[in-house]
Amino acid sequence: MIQKKIWLSPPHLESEEEEFVKDALSSNWVAPLGAYIDGFESDLELFLKNDSHVSALSSGTAALHLALVLLGISKGDEVLCQTFTFCASVNPVKYVGATPVFIDSDPINWNLCPNQLEIAIKDRIKKFKKPKAIILVHIYGMPARMNEIVTISKKYDIPIIEDSAEALGSTFKSIPCGTFGKYGIFSFNGNKIITTSSGGALISKTKLEKEKAIFYATQAKDRANHYHHSEIGFNYRMSNILAAIGRAQIIKLKKRLKQRRGNHEFYKKLFKHSKNINIFSEENKLFVSNHWLNCVTIKKGMDFTKNEIIDELAKANIEARQLWKPMHMQPLYCGNLFFGSNVAENIFNNGLCLPSGSNLTKADRHRINKTLKPFI
Ligand SMILES: *Cc1c(COP(=O)(O)O)cnc(C)c1O
Repeated sequence: MIQKKIWLSPPHLESEEEEFVKDALSSNWVAPLGAYIDGFESDLELFLKNDSHVSALSSGTAALHLALVLLGISKGDEVLCQTFTFCASVNPVKYVGATPVFIDSDPINWNLCPNQLEIAIKDRIKKFKKPKAIILVHIYGMPARMNEIVTISKKYDIPIIEDSAEALGSTFKSIPCGTFGKYGIFSFNGNKIITTSSGGALISKTKLEKEKAIFYATQAKDRANHYHHSEIGFNYRMSNILAAIGRAQIIKLKKRLKQRRGNHEFYKKLFKHSKNINIFSEENKLFVSNHWLNCVTIKKGMDFTKNEIIDELAKANIEARQLWKPMHMQPLYCGNLFFGSNVAENIFNNGLCLPSGSNLTKADRHRINKTLKPFI
């Protein structure tokens, strides 16, 4: 008998989502304008605090694109990017005609390595190519080394764009991820910690920047009594129907975070005494991950590979996945500058993600445990 599929990180919906969407439909507010959008933005602002101003958008990728537009980054500019990430963190740099320069990972934290970051900045400044921004990622929900990175950003006066797509609810020193940088972004895609089916948000520090972001997200219509445009805009605003899903989801965010952290405790215990496999976890209490996905790496010298584990889980109808393949290893970006060695590459070669949905049941965990046992 084939058992039900255990997905990596499926959407987690209940009755409120349907109620709110029905309400949006019956009110006839179905376009990218309406009370659910404003409400969803205030919900997020309340959750994040820290003077956050939120613009609800059609995707996390759109939010990154607008952050670059707001910073005035354009053709010929260079942007420093974390190599160990999903392509959506980096492609928007190309949308504005700029060039990504890649930085290796920290071996413990997996995010932007502060040492390589500073080496890269010094090198680019010496060559009269001072980078225009730093795009960092809190990968799989793990907060990046914000102490060091913020210090470097200030020292060289280079703004940070914080890709928090995977890190809603994560904190560093109790400060929410997504609120450290000049701009932060979140994604509400189907697999993220909360979803609007597809959607995203840009976090800025002032109301003015929020309004500017919404201006660009709604085709940059100038104030006039006819259609008047002096700048290029985009169609990036979130729809009121999707914001209705978002408002229903955010009510349960704290519960979802607890469930994801519960999954992490389960995996931590499972791998605690393993001689073969390491679990990716916070190094100390300053870092609080939302544990969007649980990741493991296989220790050196093992006689099995990540692919064997993924295949074995697949046979049991359990979805596990590869880690992000570093951007400097992609055909798309292999000609770009890269500062570092083989840290991100090693993580990619030896790691995988395990099922981590907030709707993972006790029975699911039992099946995962049984299938993983021979490798542990
Ligand atoms: C999901 C994701 C994005 C893109 O968000 P979308 O809403 O899918 O456009 C960007 N960066 C990272 C790290 C992501 O995981």
